[in-house]
Amino acid sequence: MAEFLIKPIVPSVAVAGSSKRLPVRRIVCVGRNYAAHAREMGRDPDREPPFFFFKPHDAVVDDGARVPYPPLTQDLHHEVELVVAIGTAGADIAEDDALDHVFGYGVGLDLTRRDLQVASRELGRPWDWGKGFDGAAPCGPIQPVARVGHPRAGRIWLAVNDVIRQEGDLAEMIWPVPDVIAQASRAMHLMPGDLIFTGTPSGVGPVQRGDRLEGGVDGVGEVTIEIAG
Ligand code: MN
Repeated sequence: MAEFLIKPIVPSVAVAGSSKRLPVRRIVCVGRNYAAHAREMGRDPDREPPFFFFKPHDAVVDDGARVPYPPLTQDLHHEVELVVAIGTAGADIAEDDALDHVFGYGVGLDLTRRDLQVASRELGRPWDWGKGFDGAAPCGPIQPVARVGHPRAGRIWLAVNDVIRQEGDLAEMIWPVPDVIAQASRAMHLMPGDLIFTGTPSGVGPVQRGDRLEGGVDGVGEVTIEIAG
């Protein structure tokens, strides 16, 4: 075991039904993944491949966290997402094999400095400053596959101070979980502890200091945070 000059930070998420935590290796996010209407079954040959971005892995915070309102923004947005936790390593994973690589599922919030994201997009610059900041990736407990299976459908929702803001269904994903895993694995080795945020349904919007955000996916769980004043 190497001896380090400083104590390494090991970001991690809770695991439902266990006292053990899952170390987080990378946080991979899908850029846009819900159609406005339920899509028909089967592939659409015209759809564009999904695109991805990263959040820093130490941006992950637990259910119940108080997340500071981040600096540099006047427009912090909520995005509720199904989170896939990878449990088995792989690269160039076939869609048919993709679910074998899943450890479990959770509910996450892809908190976004929307003003910075939009500005960087318009300037052709990276999204990092819009998507990556302290506390940018709240994630509820990961439910192992043994407890929840592989959810393909189910309501996904977010409320701010008990008012519903986002509502959709996992079945509306343009790229379902196996496709997302397969596509991501063509760009990098996926490893145990990688979290994939799979995109958000419509209804994103701003949050204020003191707001309580509650997100959920039926059959998977919930995550609640407060934006610190
Ligand atoms: Mn997102």
